[in-house]
Amino acid sequence: MTVDLHNYVATVENFPEDGVSFRDLSPLMGNGVAYKQTIDAIADFAKDLNIDLIAGPESRGFIVGSPLAYALNIGFVPARKGGKLPRAAVSASYSLEYGGENVLEIHKDAIKPGQRVLIVDDLLATGGTINATRELIAELGGVVAGVAFIIELKDLQGREKIMQAGDVPFLSLMTY
Ligand code: AMP
Repeated sequence: MTVDLHNYVATVENFPEDGVSFRDLSPLMGNGVAYKQTIDAIADFAKDLNIDLIAGPESRGFIVGSPLAYALNIGFVPARKGGKLPRAAVSASYSLEYGGENVLEIHKDAIKPGQRVLIVDDLLATGGTINATRELIAELGGVVAGVAFIIELKDLQGREKIMQAGDVPFLSLMTY
């Protein structure tokens, strides 16, 4: 049985601020069938990419990346918000969709040169989060082998921004 994943997205208008349609994926993550179908679909995309690791940005990237890493029998690398990692880390800052700046960090020993990494997140908006994660992986000598999202917001042209930083296999399961 497959379900229509669109039925598990709750759209909240004007959150966190006026004019924004927030796509809340908690219903999808809260439903065993929809969540498993989502992770299985990304695992299927990953199987030809010859990847060594999954990386996901804090915090919803963890909810996608951890079960995926488990399903593929490979490791998961968290890209954490600034100041949270206890050991030596690389760091990148980027602008947020609703204004302001954010910092993401990855432990220096989390990725070895030449390792192939798939980046995942719940949703692609402007692409800032993903390009920062990509920078960190490149700084450690890793190869970004693909990027995958549950939702892609077309109007914000995040996909174009990602491809400007270099072509990479791309998956989004739903577009809005
Ligand atoms: P960006 O760096 O602009 O691609 O933003 C991506 C991050 O912001 C994702 O990790 C999402 O969790 C969150 N985000 C941005 N816009 C939305 C939205 N409209 N609905 C839900 N989450 C969003």
